[in-house]
Amino acid sequence: EKKAANNFLRNLIAEQIAAGEHTGDVVTRFPPEPNGYLHIGHAKSIWLNFGLAEEFGGRCHLRFDDTNPGAENPEYVEAIQEDVQWLGYDWAGHVRYASDYFDQLYGYAEHLIEAGLAYVDDQSAEQASASRGTLTEPGVNSPFRDRSVEDNLDRFRRMRAGEFEDGACVLRAKIDMAAGNMNLRDPVLYRIRRATHHQTGDAWCIYPSYDFAHGQSDAIEGVTHSICTLEFEDHRPLYDWLIERLPVPSRPRQYEFSRLNINYTVTSKRRLKLLVDEGFVDGWDDPRMPTLCGIRRRGYTPASIRRFCEMVGVSRADGVVDMAMLEHALRDDLNDNAPRAMCVIEPLKVVITNYPDDGVEMLAAPGHPQLDGFAERQLPFTREVWIEREDFREEANKKYKRLVLGKKVRLRNGYVLTADEAIKDADGRITEVRCTYDPDSLGSDPADGVKPRGVIHWVSASHGRRATVRLYDRLFSHETPGRGDVDFRDQLNPESLTTHQDCWIEPAAADAAPEAMFQFERVGYFVADRHDHTPDAPVFNRSVALRDTWAK
Ligand code: ATP
Ligand code: MG
Ligand code: MG
Repeated sequence: EKKAANNFLRNLIAEQIAAGEHTGDVVTRFPPEPNGYLHIGHAKSIWLNFGLAEEFGGRCHLRFDDTNPGAENPEYVEAIQEDVQWLGYDWAGHVRYASDYFDQLYGYAEHLIEAGLAYVDDQSAEQASASRGTLTEPGVNSPFRDRSVEDNLDRFRRMRAGEFEDGACVLRAKIDMAAGNMNLRDPVLYRIRRATHHQTGDAWCIYPSYDFAHGQSDAIEGVTHSICTLEFEDHRPLYDWLIERLPVPSRPRQYEFSRLNINYTVTSKRRLKLLVDEGFVDGWDDPRMPTLCGIRRRGYTPASIRRFCEMVGVSRADGVVDMAMLEHALRDDLNDNAPRAMCVIEPLKVVITNYPDDGVEMLAAPGHPQLDGFAERQLPFTREVWIEREDFREEANKKYKRLVLGKKVRLRNGYVLTADEAIKDADGRITEVRCTYDPDSLGSDPADGVKPRGVIHWVSASHGRRATVRLYDRLFSHETPGRGDVDFRDQLNPESLTTHQDCWIEPAAADAAPEAMFQFERVGYFVADRHDHTPDAPVFNRSVALRDTWAK
């Protein structure tokens, strides 16, 4: 078992409490913008925010950061709630929206204007951007910066009333056009945008900026620790500047940690949306996608994702985490929790010539080889069984611990077979192996003392069920897709999906419910597809191989 990695925010809050700097509940929030589906990077933020609140006896709000109606969509609002719940977290009370606070935020804006700290700027977007300066050059004050409070108030009210065209003017904070931090060069607080909002409809034609909405929403909700990723570090002075000047009901603080990046995939909603929109994958929940609905469909468990986050830890150091770590967390969970079953992916027929034509017997097999609490399985054994094509060779050296002509192998949970003859078609391809079985070999070595070379999995040809199995590999063949001068779409792995339609599984696995998980012995961990699996047409997705076999 790998020890939990360091979590500096957990330590910091513990210290704040011990030192009496923090009293009362620890209140956090997870603030997604509903402009796409959540991905594994968001899982880290969810785990961190909800986890800290749980640990320190507080609460975590789910708050949609919905200040940008153009890109947002109620489909995403729904999906995000489903994903957070699936991960096992519960927001305190009701779902919240930044748009719940549009009235209060508007009032705060008037407050700033009245304090002489905000002005309506009529410069075009191009002019404003040209006069912003650069990291080495100070910006230039807008010619509208010194409007009177009355004039600003009147104009801002008219902005709200819809008297100006989109883009005709904006409300800006009056801070310092020469500030070293670009975010303090009179940032935009409100812009005019005629777009129907998914929560507020057409009630507003002006919308607050992220920076104006975020901290004030935190304060309204009584958030104590506003945790975000490092790209917002430069926004913290603005966050504090606003909180200090507004009559807000509480004093939240912002803390930053480094984003989760994982190799061989991308964690950016924008890029994931391109993969969906351009048909590179089969929707947001394609099992190759790093979205939460995608990895759920792939067979990842909430426990494995939380465990992974714990293993990665929380710091301010940027880095890329190895995908193998995520897979390891899943394997660990499924090894203890997935019942065993047998599935033949590329079938080769074995005919047991000394077994009766219509004979059937039920062989009992454990649900788990080591652990209790798994239902026993009943495996129908018949004259014809399927084995894996790669588990038979006409001749082979000793390293090949499978079926070879003239040699013995054990069928998993079953009898020992001896291969007598390989039948071939006109092209020389083996179509069938004729074997004899040893009726006294169930659970004991053959009486002649000749040990079987190995154990192979199998499924009854007459009583097994045909299934479709999807084998997945990494979505990208490059470790850091899109880094440098390349398009990330040019680095997709062309072999990320292989579908096998002629697989055979034991009957009980076919009858399992969608999302049931199994270890198909010797093959890997699999899940019954959430959408496509039915007992009549079973469909299984490989979640992860049994061990890390991926060659770099
Ligand atoms: P993307 O860049 O994929 O669009 P985002 O940050 O714009 O992500 P939001 O909906 O704003 O997406 O994210 C909600 C929360 O999740 C934010 O607090 C954000 O910092 C956090 N978050 C997003 N991506 C990651 C990541 N890769 N690692 C950790 N936290 C993340
Ligand atoms: Mg964001
Ligand atoms: Mg984004």
